[in-house]
Amino acid sequence: MEYSTVCGLEVHTELATKTKIFCSCTTEFGGEPNTHVCEICSGMPGTLPVLNEKVLEFAVRTGLATNCEITMYNKFDRKNYFYPDLPKAYQISQLYLPICRNGYIEINDSINGGKKKVRIHEIHMEEDAGKLIHDEWSDCTLVNYNRCGVPLLEIVSEPDIASADEAVEYVEKLRSILQFCGVSDCKMQEGSLRADVNVSVMEKGSSEFGTRTEMKNINSFKAIHNAIECEAQRQIELIEDGGKVVQETRRWDDAKGSSYAMRSKEDAQDYKYFPDPDLPPVQLTDEYVNSIKNNLPELPEAKKARYIAEFGLSEYDISMIFSSVAYVKLFERTVEITNSPKDSANWIMGELMKMMNENQLLPENMNFRADSLGEIINLLNGNKISRDSAKKVFKAVFEEDVIPADYVKANNMEMVSDTGAIKAVIEEVISNNQKAVDEYKGGKEASFNFLIGQSMRALRGKAPAAEVTKILKEILG
Ligand code: ADP
Ligand code: MG
Ligand code: ZN
Repeated sequence: MEYSTVCGLEVHTELATKTKIFCSCTTEFGGEPNTHVCEICSGMPGTLPVLNEKVLEFAVRTGLATNCEITMYNKFDRKNYFYPDLPKAYQISQLYLPICRNGYIEINDSINGGKKKVRIHEIHMEEDAGKLIHDEWSDCTLVNYNRCGVPLLEIVSEPDIASADEAVEYVEKLRSILQFCGVSDCKMQEGSLRADVNVSVMEKGSSEFGTRTEMKNINSFKAIHNAIECEAQRQIELIEDGGKVVQETRRWDDAKGSSYAMRSKEDAQDYKYFPDPDLPPVQLTDEYVNSIKNNLPELPEAKKARYIAEFGLSEYDISMIFSSVAYVKLFERTVEITNSPKDSANWIMGELMKMMNENQLLPENMNFRADSLGEIINLLNGNKISRDSAKKVFKAVFEEDVIPADYVKANNMEMVSDTGAIKAVIEEVISNNQKAVDEYKGGKEASFNFLIGQSMRALRGKAPAAEVTKILKEILG
């Protein structure tokens, strides 16, 4: 029998606010355990939450950027469960009236070709939980509440995703939108973007969904891809063997490349949701939403299309650069400095991405002045340094964030542009290589190339080869 895969994603993203959602503790990642906490986010009795307005703004911005309707009257609900990472024993979230609904993101249709919409069921605001640390001590588990109360958006898709490739593209597009909107840094390795992956399979052509399983908190594109493919395959084999898929939460073990059952899936009623009595409902005005709409930044798809049209760059080049907002920012600055979109794109896709790979660095951890790449390209295009030197300077920029012009000076890399100086060096080479000169004059072409080589070496590659050839020809007649 042939099967199709059905997948829906619940993506959690930590918002780039300075402070937490209901208190003024910092949201900064890391720090000594339990130092970013106060009475409110550690759930002390008698304290009251106050909504951080920035969270509201970021939620509306994200909703507008993903084609959602904004719920003008929305409110917070308590999701009750007991677990040591949640000191209040409930999470403040939104169930009944989430702030955004009925949006979509467009992706490539991996089954039928063309484009398709992955619908967004809703986006809601909620608080993150703390973190349990199991591995450091053998006889106990520790808890770190620094992350407790960090604002999250949960973005819930409809089950419109039909393959692992589509899921990855959806999350990539979503991440790009979130980054361009400035609402999250989306550092997946720090958990600021993570996905719960729901997977089911059904007979090809059927309109009735199969039973789904859920794998929580997957935080890399590779893991999302593998988890979906392996889980779909597991379900198919189970069904083919006469078994039945049970609705459950499974843990994806990325190192092993397999998942195992964790617990049976809880339903909404298990959480005994009810409206949070500590927070007033949120009533938005048209004026507020419109002001956010009018200040929405240019979104990635629109910007991509504009760069392809304005700069004459290929769709492939542009997608490579748009794989991270960090590359896009560097690209834009480099174009400003050099006026050459082609050179800027080529250096980013060539030298920069090569170094990123070699050093296994993520784009957001690039660590050099944004102006440096443009300055190097200008030095090269202005014949101030050779291509070889340009690569060396870039390596130093990449590794030590040196200032290109200073580095060029300190390392004596400037091209010799003074014809007289080049001539003097060549004349010395000629007087030291009389034998080759005689051979050349006797008709041996190879000796000319030898003399060019010697001259270039004496000039330490710092004169344009064409110029050296011209001068040597002139002298030898
Ligand atoms: P719950 O409230 O139990 O988490 P939801 O109906 O909100 O369930 O769905 C959660 C996620 O599961 C959504 O992203 C949705 O698209 C996805 N989903 C629902 N049904 C299926 C299915 N049959 N197969 C795959 N994913 C599904
Ligand atoms: Mg859910
Ligand atoms: Zn706090």
